[in-house]
Amino acid sequence: MIDLHVHTWRCRHAVGTVFEYVAAAAERGIDTIAITDHLPLPPALIARDPGMAAYAMPVVELPAYVDEVLSARTAVSATGGPEVLLGIEADVYPGNEAFVRTMLAEHPFDVVLGSVHFVDGWAFDDPDRREGYASWDVRALWERYFDDLVSAARGGLADVIGHADLVKKFGYVPDGDLMPLYREVASAFAEAGVAVEVNTAGLRKPCAEIYPAAPLLRALNRAGVPVTVGSDAHAPAEVGSAYGEARRALLDAGYRSAVVFRSRQAEEVPL
Ligand SMILES: [Zn+2]
Ligand SMILES: [Zn+2]
Repeated sequence: MIDLHVHTWRCRHAVGTVFEYVAAAAERGIDTIAITDHLPLPPALIARDPGMAAYAMPVVELPAYVDEVLSARTAVSATGGPEVLLGIEADVYPGNEAFVRTMLAEHPFDVVLGSVHFVDGWAFDDPDRREGYASWDVRALWERYFDDLVSAARGGLADVIGHADLVKKFGYVPDGDLMPLYREVASAFAEAGVAVEVNTAGLRKPCAEIYPAAPLLRALNRAGVPVTVGSDAHAPAEVGSAYGEARRALLDAGYRSAVVFRSRQAEEVPL
């Protein structure tokens, strides 16, 4: 059992320390956990929109975060506990690539999740900013979101694309056939050489389904895109959440194994 996506108190909208997450993972029999807090956002962005300070740790805290995860790894390996990977979830939106690249280069990350939470600076997944949906046509928003996600994959900064259809979070889904879009996205991810995560947080949100949706997951499988599994826990009690559902979704989509990343190299693990 693996969980390659969890957040700590440092991001200002989650609770729990690295040690509390690792203890929860040990309790649930998880073999490998990646701590993947949000990479700091550019200070200029937060200066323009102070509410964004609650989306990620400040830049000055990144070294302390890295130290905490690496100390937890050392402490836990001495006790035979779960394997602890140093991860991060980066906001790879157009214009932020150079900032992300600089921050990533400073630390020995095992795994980098590349996520899109913003469209034109709007945090479309923030429940307090839902009014933004009123100014978008849903299909246009989806096309724009997936365009940015494909650019994130092609940019080569991320090992894994986070919650690949997050844009459905509040249930805004376009009418009509989504398969052509899904096929295009899947083949772009395959070409870019990224993995995708099966993220169970969607089950806890208004959309009430795993990210990505079953038809997208099948398209990813057909295109040969590898997968990880993550709870996107924002509290230690959510570690490993709905792993059984994630595993079932993967088996239904045709997957028989997942991958974990050590020093940014994928290694297969059975489901
Ligand atoms: Zn978060
Ligand atoms: Zn995320």
